[in-house]
Amino acid sequence: MKEILKFGGSSVADAACIQGVAQIIAKSQNPGDEIYVVLSALKGVTDALIKIANDVRDGRFLPPALQIVLDKHEAIMLELGLDTDMELVTSFKQLSTEMKEHLPRCPGASVDFKMWKDVLLSFGEILSVRIMSSYLKSKQIDAELLDARKVVITDSNYGNAYVHYQKSYDRIREYVSNHSRLQIITGFLGANEYGNATTLGRSGSDYSASIFGAALNVDLIEIWTDVDGILTANPKIVDKTVPIPELTYEEAMELAHAGAKVIFPPTMIPAMYKRIPIVVKNTFRPELPGTRISPDRALKGQITVGLSSVSNVSLIRMQGAGMVGVKGINARLFTCLADKGISVMLVSQAFSEHSTCFAVKPDETDLALMCIDDEFAKELKAKYIDSVLVLDDLSLVAVVGEGMQHTAGIAGLVFQVLGQEKINVEAIAQGSSRRNISFIIHDSEAQRAIQRLHQVLFERAEA
Ligand code: ASP
Ligand code: MG
Repeated sequence: MKEILKFGGSSVADAACIQGVAQIIAKSQNPGDEIYVVLSALKGVTDALIKIANDVRDGRFLPPALQIVLDKHEAIMLELGLDTDMELVTSFKQLSTEMKEHLPRCPGASVDFKMWKDVLLSFGEILSVRIMSSYLKSKQIDAELLDARKVVITDSNYGNAYVHYQKSYDRIREYVSNHSRLQIITGFLGANEYGNATTLGRSGSDYSASIFGAALNVDLIEIWTDVDGILTANPKIVDKTVPIPELTYEEAMELAHAGAKVIFPPTMIPAMYKRIPIVVKNTFRPELPGTRISPDRALKGQITVGLSSVSNVSLIRMQGAGMVGVKGINARLFTCLADKGISVMLVSQAFSEHSTCFAVKPDETDLALMCIDDEFAKELKAKYIDSVLVLDDLSLVAVVGEGMQHTAGIAGLVFQVLGQEKINVEAIAQGSSRRNISFIIHDSEAQRAIQRLHQVLFERAEA
């Protein structure tokens, strides 16, 4: 087996966690297996570095902030019996001095600032990987650091860089073929064509795992985190959630889109393209199976797999007799919203074409209304469009499952439950994938709806 093991920040929060991770790594090193490890920065470190960078920019930087970050790493190294890495400490300090001198001269949002910020952020992953590789060496595991900035090639969109896949894959393969030790890889990092450090967006080390997995054609990518897997619903809303044993990539994406805290969908693309399964596992309970995400799964009666939800959503409803049968209304509507950078979360239009509604975040409703007023000024004046209404304080709920494609009655069941609970539905959309039924209800009723649906769909024996 060829595998990537990726450990997130919470898996490397302190010395004890690092020892636990080292044990998981040691256990995965079976004869004949080839493994690669991708690491995030220690828990909280990226947040701390972002704050430092922003404070420097705003002239509020206090040097102790940097020392606190360094001390945290040094304390862990001491606890693990490792020598302090003087070279790294010196370069970290030097960088911060340079930042302090340089940054007041460059405006906050400039490319310069973003560039420096990514250099600072890269220290988070470099430090955690240095610690892990040194610790593994001290335990007689022949590991070494792979600084992803040498092999992951990106554009210059600092803070959220786009990866050039083929160039990166070639570099990764070449690098790995010349390095036979166990590679401990910095997640989250890349470099542009000039060699400047870039970062791949928050939580970007999942993306790194997927990129290295695809480059190396591994058999499996393991994402080690602090939950038992992807859960059937948000545990803050439902008591009896359970980890979902198996999901297709599409189901995982449908769940993620509507708020479930799983892997961020774009991070799966390289793995998906190569059909590499991803397993989400709990570092603190490694004996549990976790959730397996793969191209297909046996349905085994699992028609629906999970519920996800986002609260605090607004719905805008545009209606008018003059919209019926008129071509191009939707095209104009969604183009004008897109032009203003407004993201639409759900769309529904009745067959009569008399009204179209769509969901957005509440802080975008004013802008959306302005766009509509502008774009449809003529139609509004002529009363072809007679009202544009906004409904606030809503929740979007999605029922997700591959089996719904082939099974009648799920929508019936879902809306029957809502009916029994006397919950009024404001809008409905069934994903064109047929793996997702989404609907909008009042925020105040969302918890009850989700709890009851979870009972009926996932706790059948007790329902
Ligand atoms: N350390 C980075 C972050 O916190 C990347 C990651 O954890 O995946 O966003
Ligand atoms: Mg993280």
